[in-house]
Amino acid sequence: MNCPRCETTLETYTLGDRDADVCERCGYVGVSVEHESERVEMESWSEAIRRFHDQNAE
Ligand SMILES: [Zn+2]
Repeated sequence: MNCPRCETTLETYTLGDRDADVCERCGYVGVSVEHESERVEMESWSEAIRRFHDQNAE
């Protein structure tokens, strides 16, 4: 799957019991959400991904 914005290959992150397709180039996050608020979900994802990158930055 490629990013709909910049067509870079998306990375798949697994956090908890969910998967997200993430573009490391432009920051696009694709999460399959059906029942919950997408906006809240996106914010928690980008926060989790930022934490993931912070850990790797050391
Ligand atoms: Zn992208």
